[in-house]
Amino acid sequence: MPQVKSEGIVLKSVNWKEHSKIVTIFTDNAGRQSIVDRGGRSLKSKRGRLMTFSRLEMAYFKSERSGTGYITEVEPLEIFQFEKEGTLGRLTFASAAVELLYDLLPADEPQEGLYHLTIQYLRLIDKVRKAAIIPVFLAYFLKLLSYLGYRPNFAGCISCGKESRDTSLTNSNGVSYHVFSPERGGLVCSTCQKPEEYYIKLHSERLDKIYSLQTASLAESARIKLRLGEAEELLELLTSFLKYQTDARELNSLKFLEKLKKTEIQN
Ligand SMILES: [Zn+2]
Repeated sequence: MPQVKSEGIVLKSVNWKEHSKIVTIFTDNAGRQSIVDRGGRSLKSKRGRLMTFSRLEMAYFKSERSGTGYITEVEPLEIFQFEKEGTLGRLTFASAAVELLYDLLPADEPQEGLYHLTIQYLRLIDKVRKAAIIPVFLAYFLKLLSYLGYRPNFAGCISCGKESRDTSLTNSNGVSYHVFSPERGGLVCSTCQKPEEYYIKLHSERLDKIYSLQTASLAESARIKLRLGEAEELLELLTSFLKYQTDARELNSLKFLEKLKKTEIQN
C-alpha cells in the first residue's frame, strides 16, 4: 500500500466497527477520499484529531486494488472557529458548503482549484462582516457548480446564444425580467421558449446580481449588496437548477438549503 500525503478538510465521519470511523475528506491532491480512522472513536487515540472546519495535513495508506485506506497521521494547519458576530450563521453557511461538497464531489478525482476555493471560502466566512456571509456563500455555490460541470448560463439565451440584454421581457407593470430554465440550465429568450416548459422568472436587476456573483472573485463578492428577498430568490433558483441537473433529487444539501431558506436567512 503506498503512503499518500495530502492536506484536506473533513466532509463527514461515520462510526465504523467498534472503535473506528470512516472519514470522508476533500483532499487537495486526490479529491474526495473515504478513509478509515482506526481507533478514531477512542479518546486515547494518539493520532491528531480529525476536526471539522479545519485545514489538516495528513498521511494515509491507500490500496490501489481495493480502494480502501487508513490514516496514519493528522496535523491541523488552520482552524476556523467562526467566533465573530453571527457565529450561528457562519457555521450554517460553512456547513452548507461541506454538505454540497459531500453530495456532489466525485470520488478519487483531483479538484485542486475547487479545494483552494473552498479554503478561501472558509477563511472569508470566518472573517467577513455579517452582511457579506450570504453573497459570499452564493458566489461560492455558483463557482462550485462550475468546477463540477454545472455552470448555469446567465450571459444569454442557452439555446440560441442571444445576449442577456436582448432576452428581457417586460411585464404589465413595465418591469423588465428574464426567464431561466432550470432544466436547460440557463436563460431562454422568447423565441426559444417552449410551451409547457418550466421557467423561473428573474427580474433583470436580480439577473445582474447573480451574474456579478458568478463572475466576481469570492473576495469581491463580499462587497455585493443583497437584500433578503433577493438572496432567497437566488438561492431558490440555484436549488431548483441543482435538482434538475443532478439525477439525485434527494441530495442532503438540498434539504439543508431548504432549511436555510426557512430559518437562517430570515434571522
Ligand atoms: Zn434563444
